[in-house]
Amino acid sequence: SDTLFESVDIARLSTEAADFETRLDALLAWEGVSDTNVQARVEEIISAVKERGDEALVECSNRFDRLTAASMSELTLDAGRLEQAFRGLSEEQRDALAQAAERIRLYHERQKPTSWSYTEADGSVLGQQVTPLDRAGIYVPGGKAAYPSSVLMNAIPAHVAGVREIVMVVPTPDGVLNELVLAAAHLAGVDRVFTIGGAQAIAAMAYGTASVPRVDKIVGPGNIYVATAKRAVFGQVGIDMIAGPSEILVVSDGGTDPEWLAMDLFSQAEHDEDAQALLVSWDESHLAEVEAAIARLLPTLERHEIVRQSLARRGALILCRDRDEAVTLINRIAPEHLELSMADPETLLPQVRHAGAIFMGRYTAEALGDYCAGPNHVLPTSGTARFSSPLGVYDFQKRSSIIHCSESGASTLGRVASVLARGESLTAHARSAEYRIKD
Ligand code: NAD
Repeated sequence: SDTLFESVDIARLSTEAADFETRLDALLAWEGVSDTNVQARVEEIISAVKERGDEALVECSNRFDRLTAASMSELTLDAGRLEQAFRGLSEEQRDALAQAAERIRLYHERQKPTSWSYTEADGSVLGQQVTPLDRAGIYVPGGKAAYPSSVLMNAIPAHVAGVREIVMVVPTPDGVLNELVLAAAHLAGVDRVFTIGGAQAIAAMAYGTASVPRVDKIVGPGNIYVATAKRAVFGQVGIDMIAGPSEILVVSDGGTDPEWLAMDLFSQAEHDEDAQALLVSWDESHLAEVEAAIARLLPTLERHEIVRQSLARRGALILCRDRDEAVTLINRIAPEHLELSMADPETLLPQVRHAGAIFMGRYTAEALGDYCAGPNHVLPTSGTARFSSPLGVYDFQKRSSIIHCSESGASTLGRVASVLARGESLTAHARSAEYRIKD
């Protein structure tokens, strides 16, 4: 009835409306890291850690996480402590974590790139050698909630890539340790954990302190302090990406249970008030049914206040003309998560050019991908799927080019190089190449 509908505050858009483009742009707009106050505070924290190391780390942790640590040794956990956390779990939790970890490992094993080379007619060999990072640093958020799944999703690809040492940081506000997070670290092959967070943890891993080793690359999501710090230290270390709020775009052909779709939208919206949940369909009565299901189910949610705000701010039910228009919307939005909730998702798949992860069919709830399907849940947000990809094994490896000239190969190439080098007036280059030319 109408009274039910009134309780849902969510934008209803139609691609036929004159103001559709403007309204869609407004919904999609997201300003990344731009707060100047946060920026100033983060710069201050980074300088403090760079200059005073452990002392500043302990100070910041005490202040921002309300701790009373006297030294970094109180904020350090070794492999033994991680294993102890794993053994302390209930059997049900241990099994669920182990199953998720195994599936994530199997999926990522397939991503391993291999080194390759080929031999030219003159005996010269060209190739590419793939090597893992020496040390990776994983940021696991812990301010407002704990994320054992994020531990698995960040650490397992690093482990599969062959990273020699995996360091993890996780803040423990008020000193509360999350045993599932530590157990996940044990399963995923993390070597050491420091219970520090925020910009100070990022600075410590970027520059190194007496107790926290300097890493080669920092990965993992976090709040605005973490994201701002990652952007600031990029170049000193590698970083994975700057993640915005989580998003889902569901495309429905009208045949999926409206309550399933409502819950799929909620599962994104409950992340935070800025998360984005969009539903696209060419079936108008189906959209109305989903809207009614949203109204019905919203009050039953634990986090209904966050969901309500997220739907009101950034959610939308979008009516389009047909499947082709749905495809245009998908590629325009380039969503982090795309659910193709339809009978024949494979017919649409080849036209999807930009999306972080694609969930095919009515049964594949995005939540399955968040925890245990196997693929990574660290995905490009805010339209960055146009140019970037899910976190994977390749993010923990790099490539070296291999060139091995035979004597005759060097002679042939020397003639080419000499001409080009003289064209650039780099005569040492030219002469170096010319020495190898056989007459
Ligand atoms: P967090 O660990 O990112 O941040 C907590 C830290 O922020 C604290 O330890 C503190 O050092 C710092 N901090 C807080 N207030 C501060 C202040 N006023 N001044 C200086 N430093 C301050 O944890 P969080 O806050 O819960 O945020 C986690 C974020 O990560 C959320 O936005 C969540 O949605 C996101 N997340 C994303 C994914 C993903 O895969 N994309 C997964 C899990 C979490």
